[in-house]
Amino acid sequence: MEFDLIARIRNRVVPRGDVVLGIGDDAALLQPPPGMQLAVAMDTLNAGVHFPHGTAAADIGWKALAVNLSDLAAMGAQPAWCTLSLSMPQADAAWLDGFVEGFAALASRHEVALVGGDTTSGPLSVCVTVHGVVEPGTALRRDRARAGDDVWVSGTPGDAAGALALLQAADGLAPPDAGPTRDARPHVPDAPIASLRARLDRPTPRIGLGRALRGVAHACIDVSDGLLADLAHICAASAVGATIELTALPASAALASAFDADSRQRLQATGGDDYELCFTAPPAARRAVSSLAAQAGVQLTRIGRIDAGHGVRALDAGGRERAWPRAGFEHFSAA
Ligand code: ADP
Ligand code: MG
Repeated sequence: MEFDLIARIRNRVVPRGDVVLGIGDDAALLQPPPGMQLAVAMDTLNAGVHFPHGTAAADIGWKALAVNLSDLAAMGAQPAWCTLSLSMPQADAAWLDGFVEGFAALASRHEVALVGGDTTSGPLSVCVTVHGVVEPGTALRRDRARAGDDVWVSGTPGDAAGALALLQAADGLAPPDAGPTRDARPHVPDAPIASLRARLDRPTPRIGLGRALRGVAHACIDVSDGLLADLAHICAASAVGATIELTALPASAALASAFDADSRQRLQATGGDDYELCFTAPPAARRAVSSLAAQAGVQLTRIGRIDAGHGVRALDAGGRERAWPRAGFEHFSAA
């Protein structure tokens, strides 16, 4: 049965010339391009933690690869190969076909070959490892931000968290850190809900942007846990501080139509799962950044500044500091 499942996966693998030996032996044999460094990242998706129970199999397949490719994007690396560890409660061929369809759709878009993995029975859990290549000395690291850098973000952060808040409101569950106010308006139309849900279920890894930022950005991270929380990782690694202007955060039309200004700002500042890139670059690079936004076909917005302090401050329209109980998602948080 296990081998039946593996055969279904193997049928959909994207071919690559540098895969000397793929699925089927005890290990894959890969031929990295001469002189390149390998960039390796791994992320796990657990049902109920990383995607809502009942998420379509194809969306889980897409997202499992997307969150991993996003890590390569944040390093400026070019994706090449991946492995997949799949744990599922029963050998459900229909579910697996859906999963593989979503996974393969994104894999072929970025020419990533699935070269091996493991298939086991257990609670639904998906773990992917991606391997990419990057020119030595050009990777985008968290520890290279400098005082005086601009802070930029791609896309429209907050959409995925907005979708989750709407789902939780529909289920009669309060969002985990909603406080006294309810996030969802009573009558949010279907169109914005669908477009926010698409951003939660099928995030877009910013591979082209990450590659284009080599030699331009100083530091970079992908926003998986929340903008403030992830920017704080850059600050800690670089021994600098940052100030963010909340009014500068670009909101999608869908997010703006579904939430009041205050909830929207909280979702944008602290909501995770967007897989946008947050990066720092010197003010001298503003024109270069703007032109590569057009090139990469993604919106880039300057949202703040790196300073010589430490920690991240978020200022509202009146210049007052705003803080929320949680700056982002954490596993094993005390709550
Ligand atoms: P082994 O027992 O030697 O680890 P397995 O029987 O687990 O081998 O797997 C057989 C082949 O199928 C190996 O090449 C393995 O990498 C591949 N494989 C198993 N599960 C998956 C999966 N979920 N996705 C991709 N390849 C897989
Ligand atoms: Mg095995």
